[in-house]
Amino acid sequence: MAKIEILQVYDYLHSIPELGFQEVKTSTFLAEQLQKFGYKVTTGVGKTGVIGEIKGQEPGPVLMLRADMDALPFTVDGKPEVRHACGHDSHCSMMLAAAAVLADKVRKGTLKILFQPAEEIGTGALAVIKDGALEGVDYILGLHNRPVQDIPDGTLTPAVNHSALAQVVIDIEGKSSHGARPHLGVNAAETAAVLTTAIMSIKLNPVKTWSCKVTAIQCGSVFNIIPEKAHMLVDCRAEDNTTIDEMLTKLQQAVDGIAVAMGAKIILTTPTGIIPAPQYDPEMVKLLADSIVAVAGKANYRAPITNPGGEDFHFFTRKYPKLKAGYLGVGAGATPGLHAVNMHLNKNSLQKGADVLVHAALKIIG
Ligand SMILES: [Zn+2]
Ligand SMILES: [Zn+2]
Repeated sequence: MAKIEILQVYDYLHSIPELGFQEVKTSTFLAEQLQKFGYKVTTGVGKTGVIGEIKGQEPGPVLMLRADMDALPFTVDGKPEVRHACGHDSHCSMMLAAAAVLADKVRKGTLKILFQPAEEIGTGALAVIKDGALEGVDYILGLHNRPVQDIPDGTLTPAVNHSALAQVVIDIEGKSSHGARPHLGVNAAETAAVLTTAIMSIKLNPVKTWSCKVTAIQCGSVFNIIPEKAHMLVDCRAEDNTTIDEMLTKLQQAVDGIAVAMGAKIILTTPTGIIPAPQYDPEMVKLLADSIVAVAGKANYRAPITNPGGEDFHFFTRKYPKLKAGYLGVGAGATPGLHAVNMHLNKNSLQKGADVLVHAALKIIG
């Protein structure tokens, strides 16, 4: 049985944070390690992704285990800096530790380990799908560390119910004029204000969790010129795909109505598309639940959680509806929270996550 020192792997990956589609050092290291364990390795999947593959002696299903690799950009003391503030380094460490143990234990079917690029920018999963990485995969398991706000350090949950997420960009084009002659122009600032009120008035089923809010308005710079252009950002989240579709329809209606009312041209786009809500397979949720109890004991089991964050992992089931997906949450005490510039987690909690992955994987391909 191959074994790796998970803490050393974590420390190394933590020291080389790289942005989405730039995970060169990270993916090179992970590919070398997989090769060492005996996996057939493919690099350059979805630009910087890596897949390791091991086939068992007997026919059986294809199981994929997926971890994301990218870090986040910050400005620290006035200088740009990349940091692992979402803990994707911890995911690669858990996945690599699991891959090491599983390497000589695949009896039936095929095990594929996917190190995916660019989760944070929402396009990494789509890139690996485009390269055919998910073709023929029957089961997929993903994972994410959980912050202190979700579950206690050292506990694990068999499902993280993320939100569907859409990042909406709105561009308003009015008409400039002298501030003394506003009737000759179309005021983009006022149009943005009216549209903001309309967006804040959107109502969806209150039984569902959802939120729709304007997060940026850029427009104008002086007192006495009616501004011609405005640029708005709207962050949209909902617990399921139907609700986010409804929200976007209502947003478009607001845009169309206000464009007519104000006499402006307004264009709504979603450059990164809609990041879908999860569609977990109940069998996979149960498999992870059983594995958590078996590995970490009942006391460290936590019921599935709801989380307003998005995850591009859910493109896999949206593109391949028959794919059976599960997603493990590993309580690692991430403090003060994910995406905080000073986020830190308890690396001693990662081994449990790796052990649960191994346990669950062996039920399918062992
Ligand atoms: Zn993140
Ligand atoms: Zn993340």
